[in-house]
Amino acid sequence: VNLYYYIHTMTTEINKSNETYAFSADINQLLSLIINTFYSNKDVFLRELISNSSDALDKIRYKSLTDPSQLNTEKNLQIKISFNKELKQLIIHDTGIGMTKQELITNLGTIAKSGTKTFIESMTNANDDISMIGQFGVGFYSAYLVANKVDVISKNNDDVCYKWESTAGGSFNITEYEDANITRGTKMILHLKEDMDKYLEESTIKELIKKHNQFISFPIYLECQKTKEVEVEEENKEVEEVDGDTKVEDVEESEEGKEEQTKKTKTEIYFEYDHLNQERPIWLRKPEEVSQEEYVSFYKNISNDYDEHMDVSHFSVEGNIEFKGLLYIPKRAPFDIFDNAKKPNNIKLYVRKVFISDDSSELVPEYMKFITGVVDSDDLPLNISRETLQQNKIMKIFKKNIIKKCLDLISKISEDEEKYKTFYEQFSKNIKLGIHEDSANRQKLASFLRFETTKSQGKMISLDQYIENMKEGQKGIYFI
Ligand code: ADP
Repeated sequence: VNLYYYIHTMTTEINKSNETYAFSADINQLLSLIINTFYSNKDVFLRELISNSSDALDKIRYKSLTDPSQLNTEKNLQIKISFNKELKQLIIHDTGIGMTKQELITNLGTIAKSGTKTFIESMTNANDDISMIGQFGVGFYSAYLVANKVDVISKNNDDVCYKWESTAGGSFNITEYEDANITRGTKMILHLKEDMDKYLEESTIKELIKKHNQFISFPIYLECQKTKEVEVEEENKEVEEVDGDTKVEDVEESEEGKEEQTKKTKTEIYFEYDHLNQERPIWLRKPEEVSQEEYVSFYKNISNDYDEHMDVSHFSVEGNIEFKGLLYIPKRAPFDIFDNAKKPNNIKLYVRKVFISDDSSELVPEYMKFITGVVDSDDLPLNISRETLQQNKIMKIFKKNIIKKCLDLISKISEDEEKYKTFYEQFSKNIKLGIHEDSANRQKLASFLRFETTKSQGKMISLDQYIENMKEGQKGIYFI
């Protein structure tokens, strides 16, 4: 009886700190798709995880604007990437907002997201592009393209530290976890699959960050292996020191000159963090200094789109209220473009380079929800709350200007017949919605409409063109 009692209390003890949860059905389906699909472009996982880290850093920075004490748990806002080559681990550590236990459970596995199903459905062909994953709001799971196990150790200011771990086999575990190095933020440990050694190479990570996450507005550091020559003392003992972050792993001796017989050197291996990204915001640079590649790279970064954009407007508005920005038109309409429950969130608002909000309902009308971009102004107070944003007069001026910039951009596209055809296939519904909703710009928007006519031979023409082609004396236009 005693033994039974002992074992029984032990198991309940273990259950208290180690809990198992089942993934929601659709996440499970998504995971098996990710694991079982033969898909060669696995690089996308890094972009997705770094962009999650960047979002988490944005969130804590925003919170600290009104409550500076939020940063007491960690002042540096950064992302550090490192390897454990022996254990084949790739580690991504951010000092962002972190997740509470409840958030780990809901965000990483139990709550179904609208995009999951749509994403799975769109992946019906073997060579479909998984890199679209970020657009569907389930980017985290792309970690399983390269890892057979993922640990997420996270600490939020409102909770103690927890570790989420899963081998994706239907469930995940959560345990309380102690790590003195994690005072706030999230550390992702990817236990890489057998053939994924290339992600343990500095050069691979450097190249990928440069390609995809160059413009993340927080420093990204990579732990790099370096060597240096140091003098050895007379006695050539092989020393192994550990000095803070500097690990000495290997010792190699060499004689330096015959004259100075006492002076000998050895090559030491040590580790140092290299800063990988350029943080100068692209929208604050002059358009002539920004290359096409940089526009594409930035677009992919902020939009989660795997494809490049159709066109971009890089503008600067001057006058009483000054602001700068970038507005992109994508090549394809987002899958949830007419989902009324989804608030516009494609335009990010910055104040003096600090991210404030991606709730763009005050910046663009409903029908322009497909526009992606960034707006930055020095004229708003940094600690403006999301509520006061809604009443702010400056926001109205932003909105008016953004609409104008977008209309100009569409106008520009319409000059190129081929390009406009693609645009119209994707966004004609938005134009029509705009005509309905936006009386101030109705005339302009109407000029973007295209129609097929009995005489246009399959081509789409504008109303102006139609009128030009009208027979003399034609009194009416008939349409279905
Ligand atoms: P999305 O980022 O598009 O919402 P993901 O599947 O990539 O979808 O991530 C799910 C959620 O998990 C995020 O919305 C966020 O709340 C949380 N999350 C992911 N990574 C982090 C992180 N590094 N720090 C804090 N929260 C995170």
